[in-house]
Formats: sequence, structure tokens, C-alpha cells
Amino acid sequence: MSNESTRVTSLQTKVTHLALLMVAVLTTACVTPLSVRRHQTVGLTDARATTILSNFSNVVFTADTPNDFACTTGFNNPPQITDMMPAIYPRSGAVGTYAATANFNSAAAATAILGTPGYVKVVNNISWCSQPGANIIGCSPTPGTSMAVVRWTAALEGILWAHEFGHTVGLPHRNNVNAIMNPFIVPTALEVTAGECVSFVSRAINNPFNTSGIVTGDPAPGMAEKELVFERVHEFELAKGTDVVDFVHQTYVHGTPTHLAARFEGTKNAQTLAAMLGDTREYEHAGNIVYTLGVIGSSRDVSHVTKWLDTEQSREADWTTVQRVNAGMLALAHLANRTGSPDAIDYLVKSALVSYRGKTNPEIEDALADSAAVGLAMVGTKNSLVLLDQVYSKNESVGRKTSPIPFEELVDLNLDIQELGIDGYYAP
Ligand SMILES: [Zn+2]
Repeated sequence: MSNESTRVTSLQTKVTHLALLMVAVLTTACVTPLSVRRHQTVGLTDARATTILSNFSNVVFTADTPNDFACTTGFNNPPQITDMMPAIYPRSGAVGTYAATANFNSAAAATAILGTPGYVKVVNNISWCSQPGANIIGCSPTPGTSMAVVRWTAALEGILWAHEFGHTVGLPHRNNVNAIMNPFIVPTALEVTAGECVSFVSRAINNPFNTSGIVTGDPAPGMAEKELVFERVHEFELAKGTDVVDFVHQTYVHGTPTHLAARFEGTKNAQTLAAMLGDTREYEHAGNIVYTLGVIGSSRDVSHVTKWLDTEQSREADWTTVQRVNAGMLALAHLANRTGSPDAIDYLVKSALVSYRGKTNPEIEDALADSAAVGLAMVGTKNSLVLLDQVYSKNESVGRKTSPIPFEELVDLNLDIQELGIDGYYAP
């Protein structure tokens, strides 16, 4: 046999094996294939996506605790214990790229990103989820046909993807630290209820009751989102005894909850946060710390925040910097809204000008400027809107590499806060 025919035979054998494997998976599991797409600047290998999806499947179908429902189904009525199949979420095809911005930072960006083909979108930054927010790691319409996540702590990425998938099949939050649908993620967030399981398997390709017509595994057709409705972060309570340090040490899927941060109002807590901000051991929590300080601080905390922002921005900027700086800019917006601090407003204006920064990575520099522009709009006064208008004119005159957030969207944000107050805007 020639080398070529050996290769062909070997390839045919592989294809046959693959087909047999697919048949085996289909007849023994409840399968929801997911097409995964990343922005071209996001690092995510096929192997890593497979691992995340495997962890996602495991937390869903395994009974991790006595209270956890093992999400397996036979699609019979009533289901027979003998033909129960675990709900699994394999990767559909290779990890592709999507054609939209890396920065999920506005309603416009969300609509564009979620409207491109592919079910899972791995983006570089999320700073909007129905409202501007700080430290967001996932955002998905509830229900919807596409979900957005950032890369995150490897051990918990499977839970994050399961949580966001849960929203796309219509699941709301559930206040239980052991629940996948809990609004903040901890390593114990592994439980689903029987009712949640029904939603988790609702888009399985071998579910005879799946009439959604939504193809989770096909990256080809665009899945334009009609009207995006997002599960709000707000509707949950803090556990009894949570202090400000506990609060900033949590990872909130849809960002630091503003109205809960406001509960910690008081000089002593502000002092605690200001001290933590300068502590390198708190580095990974700095986004929550700075944002919460903005929500509860006074005018004397403006310099703590701007000093921290200066340090953050003095490093070579990457997308992690964008996420952290965004939290600081929104913190300044809260401080300026409450205290009228001219220093906070000046800092936002300066930072929103693209000419303020170097040009080493225009996409990142523009993202940093955008977070300051959102902050300026969030100051929520007539004057801040005038200043924002001037910033947009100046940025237009010097040219930007990427499209800014549509001005009209920030005008609406500013007017909403003028009308409702910043507390009202972020109220549950
Ligand atoms: Zn959520």
C-alpha cells in the first residue's frame, strides 16, 4: 500500500471512530453541543475550552452534595431510572473567532457581540450588563441565544459558563451559596434543582421536547438578539454578618452590586477600604475594593482612588488593566455624583481623552478612555454632559482606532441618573 493510501485508510478509520463516538455519546447522554467563539485577541485553545465545558457538564449532571439534583434525564414520562442520561455540553467544532469588538462595555457592544454567530462568546472585558458595572465576568440575556464571559480563574470557569448558560435558558438567580445560579461564585456553587435541570436540558439536540429551534452547536447562522433582557445583579441579599472585607472578597458574576455596597456607608469602612487599596496582598480584589470605596466614600477618598488609578495606568496596559481601571473610573463617578468633587470630574475628563494616552495598543487605550467616558456620563449632572460632549468632539478631531460608545447611549445614561439619582438608578 502506498503512503498516501495508508494515510487515507488511517483517516477513514479516525472518521469512523469519531462517528461511532458521536453515536455512543448521543445514545448515552443528553447532549447540548455549544459553539465557542473568542475575540481574536482572547487566548483560548480548543483543549482549554474542552476542559471548561467538561467541568461545566460535571457540575450540572453530578450530584455534588446531598441537596444537589443530578441533572440526568431519560425524556420519558415518567422517566425510567434505567435510561437516565447525564446532561453534557460538548464543544461543537473548533473554537472560532467572532467578528465584533473585544470590549463588552455598552448596550451597543452587547447587541453586536451577542448578535454574531456562535453560542459562547469569550470577550476581553465586560463593563456593562443592562447598566454600566464594575468587575463583571459574565453577562447573558435571559433567555437568549448567546452568552458572554471573560477568561477567569481556571478552577471556577466551568461554573461561570454553566451559570451564564443557565441565564440563556431563562433561569433567574437563586440565593444560595451552593447554587450554580447564585449571584456570586464560590467553589461550592455546584447545585441545581430538578426544576433548573429541566431548563438546563431544554436545548439538548436529543430532547424530543426541544422545540426552541435554537441551534446551540452551529456557528454558521447569525443568532441576532431581538430584545435583550438581562438578569439583574441586584436581587439578592447579603448573608448575615457579612462585613465590608467579606463583601469585597466575593466574586460577583454581574459586577459589584451597587446597592449592597452602599450598605457599608460610614467613615470606618471607607478607611478600611482605603487601606486595603494600597495593600498588594489585596491585588485580586482591588476592583471590588475601589468600586465600593467610590460608592461609600467621601470627597477625601477621591485622592485615594486617583492615586490608585495612576499606579494602575502607569503599568503597560492589558485587558486586566482595563477591567480594574474601569472599576476605578466608576468609583470616581459615584464620588463626583455625591460630593461634586472637581478633582474627580477633572480626572474623568482627562482620562476620557484618547490623546491623553500613548499609542502602544490603541484598542486598549480606547477601552480605558471609554470607561472614563462612561464614568463622566454617570456623574449624572447637566455639567458632566456638557463636558462629555466636549470630550467626544476632541476625540473625534484627533481620530480613534476603534468606535466609541455611541454618544446617544451615554446621554440616556446621564439623563437617567439626573432623573433618578445614582442610588435610584442602581436600586433593585
Ligand atoms: Zn447571573
